[in-house]
Amino acid sequence: MTWRASVLTIFPEMFPGPLGVSLAGKALAAGTWSLDIVDIRDHATDKHRTVDDTPAGGGPGMVMKADVLARAIDSVADQRPRFFMSPRGVPLTQAKVSELARGDGALIVCGRFEGVDERLIAARNLQEISIGDYVLSGGELAAAVMLDACIRLLPGVMGKEASGLDESFSEGLLEYPQFTRPQIFEGQTIPDILTGGDHSKVAKWRLEQAESLTRQRRPDLWTAYSGQPKKSGPNG
Ligand code: SAH
Repeated sequence: MTWRASVLTIFPEMFPGPLGVSLAGKALAAGTWSLDIVDIRDHATDKHRTVDDTPAGGGPGMVMKADVLARAIDSVADQRPRFFMSPRGVPLTQAKVSELARGDGALIVCGRFEGVDERLIAARNLQEISIGDYVLSGGELAAAVMLDACIRLLPGVMGKEASGLDESFSEGLLEYPQFTRPQIFEGQTIPDILTGGDHSKVAKWRLEQAESLTRQRRPDLWTAYSGQPKKSGPNG
């Protein structure tokens, strides 16, 4: 089944952009996912195709109009979850991404200017999602980030199905360090354990490294991880 993305934007030329190359681009060409770009301006009603207006109460900038956006959403809306990319939103996490990738797709509204009329968010049941604590000039790059993260998890997109399971965040830890040939690079060797052929030692080393990196770099993730009950073995 095709995973369906609909993106609502006033800059349709920004898509597929980076989603048209590499893993995502191949998967798009293969029909693993589809991309439907809705030009919000097509849903304006005046001859200037106006999508924004001045903020009620005054202040700088412009606000995207609820009526125009509602028509744009209604032209594609179905049972898929709907999102508004927004610095005020819930932070995007790998857990959210993998939940989304297991569904049938997403509808994403890209803001511009100062954002959208607040009434639209509730009226069309949009979940606000942030890609980090900084402000972009528009939601398009944020939408592309969220889509890229979902698409690589769709069945068949990554070379090895397994490669999604082992990486940063999937167990609540940052990933262990990776190495490849040459064996000696500028005088530095690959750790002996990794070339010794003992898989259980490799696994133990990787877990230790992942734990230590997470503890040093991301105390927030470490607190959550170390407070979890330990994963039980195959019989428990
Ligand atoms: N005035 C707004 C920022 C508007 S930036 C505020 O202070 O909250 C314009 C648009 O860019 C937003 O509507 C949103 O769609 C997008 N955007 C900016 N930063 C983002 C972020 N960190 N995550 C997701 N979307 C973002």
